[in-house]
Amino acid sequence: MPLYDYRCQNGHQFEARHGFNDPAPACPECGEANVQRIITTAPAAHQGMAAGAGSSGAASKDQLRDKWAEETPKLREKLVSKLGEDTVNKYAPSLNTKYD
Ligand SMILES: [Zn+2]
Repeated sequence: MPLYDYRCQNGHQFEARHGFNDPAPACPECGEANVQRIITTAPAAHQGMAAGAGSSGAASKDQLRDKWAEETPKLREKLVSKLGEDTVNKYAPSLNTKYD
């Protein structure tokens, strides 16, 4: 069963594990029944993050940067051959970004 985060009207936060269609539980601190579910991440995203726990966020950011550094000049070249240097400079200045 999924784990949900809740906050009651009186500001207590708690976690509760229950079925998707079950009603929200009362606050264990004060018994308040008026509780709100805090949307954090979907259970699927949790699993995905756990699976990728070995790689740090910084590493994947670097990978993304490398990818851009590799792809951007190619894309720019393509556009320049189609539209001309001036048009690309004017309408796609971000492609002139240097990544090195
Ligand atoms: Zn409470």
